[in-house]
Amino acid sequence: MRESHQEDPDVAPHILCVTAHPDDAEIALGGAISAWCHAGLRLTVAVCSTSERSAAMSERRKNAAARAARILGHELTWVFPHDLRRVEDVTEHELVGRIDGLVRESGADAVLAHADCDSHADHRMVSRAVLASSRTWPDSALLSFGVSEPRTAAYTRFQPSIFIPVAGHLESKRAAIHEFHYDGKGYRDLDDDAMELRLRAMGSLCGVDAAEGLSLLRVVGQTRGARALAWLLRKVPDPSSDTANGVDSVRALDHRE
Ligand SMILES: [Zn+2]
Repeated sequence: MRESHQEDPDVAPHILCVTAHPDDAEIALGGAISAWCHAGLRLTVAVCSTSERSAAMSERRKNAAARAARILGHELTWVFPHDLRRVEDVTEHELVGRIDGLVRESGADAVLAHADCDSHADHRMVSRAVLASSRTWPDSALLSFGVSEPRTAAYTRFQPSIFIPVAGHLESKRAAIHEFHYDGKGYRDLDDDAMELRLRAMGSLCGVDAAEGLSLLRVVGQTRGARALAWLLRKVPDPSSDTANGVDSVRALDHRE
């Protein structure tokens, strides 16, 4: 069956973003998620583990993820909702099976996941598991997003082939990430200024004010995945500017010296 499951081109597709931890999606794609969800896309972030040892701290991080989801507009689900296991405590076999089920149950038209060049071992585990799972959903597109940690040599190994303009969604991204900055957490606060510089640098590669990047791993023509990818690349509302928004700003490059 290669026909799209949703024939109406105006019905937004459903995107599933699979991450190792809360805040991974916000750091890699917070601007794009905000832009897509404000344009009517349905996007679910599926998080594997809070990586917290205590139930109380795990709950705090889950609550932060829920607040971040309200800011960006996505839905949130937990891959292993009833235990405190870290990603590296789960066998690859179990992880792949759970992702098989998630994609099947969600009916996702496209799946986004960590890149396999990530510097975090647990991010690479999720990347490999999603790749293995993709055998069961050939009609859905598969894309990867960039490395979270900019301070290792792995950061520049990720080469985006798709750029999403996010200049109008930097505030939402920052606000969503700040939900994870609470006392007692076991990780450092993100450097806002450095993050914005990286987004603006990526934008400079493609003629927009700021961008987030994705890499396309697979899409099959005439499938729901192809339709979802086209939707992700469509012009989306950008409150920052009347001109520097979405596909139009990329096309505007043709008219520059
Ligand atoms: Zn992570």
